[in-house]
Amino acid sequence: MTMFQVENLTKVYGKVRAVDDVSFSIQKGEFVGIIGPNGAGKTTLFHLISGVQPPTSGKVILNNEEITGKAPHLIVQKGLTRTFQVPRPFQELTVHENVEIVKSSKLSVHEQAKQIDHLLQQVGLGSRQSQLAGSLPQGDLRRLEMARALATNPDLLLLDEPFAGLNTAEIESLSELLLQMHDEGITIIIIEHKLKALMKMVKRVIAINFGQLIADDIPQEVVNNEQVLKAYLGDRSWDFAYNH
Ligand code: ATP
Repeated sequence: MTMFQVENLTKVYGKVRAVDDVSFSIQKGEFVGIIGPNGAGKTTLFHLISGVQPPTSGKVILNNEEITGKAPHLIVQKGLTRTFQVPRPFQELTVHENVEIVKSSKLSVHEQAKQIDHLLQQVGLGSRQSQLAGSLPQGDLRRLEMARALATNPDLLLLDEPFAGLNTAEIESLSELLLQMHDEGITIIIIEHKLKALMKMVKRVIAINFGQLIADDIPQEVVNNEQVLKAYLGDRSWDFAYNH
């Protein structure tokens, strides 16, 4: 079942076509990677989808409903949540409070606290609930970002470079969490430069260069795709991705 589509999505900044006529569909239950060299337009694509910025033209459709240019909080209410490259928790609030403020609920205070506790256990932050977010190491900040995203109860989750700044052990453990979230029924689209870790998780990869979609296939095909290899020529991220 098609859950999500972008149709001819385009964003022009002055002379730059940051996203250029991009179209693709996502089926319910997929786990899809988005790759492309620095400046290819990946984050801008997420901005357009999540309502952070309006597209110049084109459509975004979620569960057969057009959501193009709607406000981010309305898009979240419809079941689409995204994370950001740099985690943005409230540093001066505790881990628990950071989840509490994004979780809108008609539950009693007690029930709500129980759910947040469960969520934080699930992402591995059960023992850090009363710690200030500003004091968390990078790996735990990413986990908190996941907990805040999960608290919105998403059907479709967009992750923007969740492995940035993490060491190998942290990447492995976050990968496990993402696979678990996917197993529990969340459809995921993930932008990631750490290609080795990405390719282990996803079954489909969309590659973007200069704002345009240049490949959409299984990982093994995409990493051998001539246009993709050419796009990464001279970009250290390809080498980096395979050697770290
Ligand atoms: P990275 O992997 O480095 O995060 P990216 O693929 O996410 O890069 P974008 O950040 O989407 O790429 O940028 C795509 C292009 O759009 C780049 O040329 C960038 O300089 C340009 N761009 C992005 N945002 C703006 C803006 N607000 N105003 C003008 N140009 C912008």
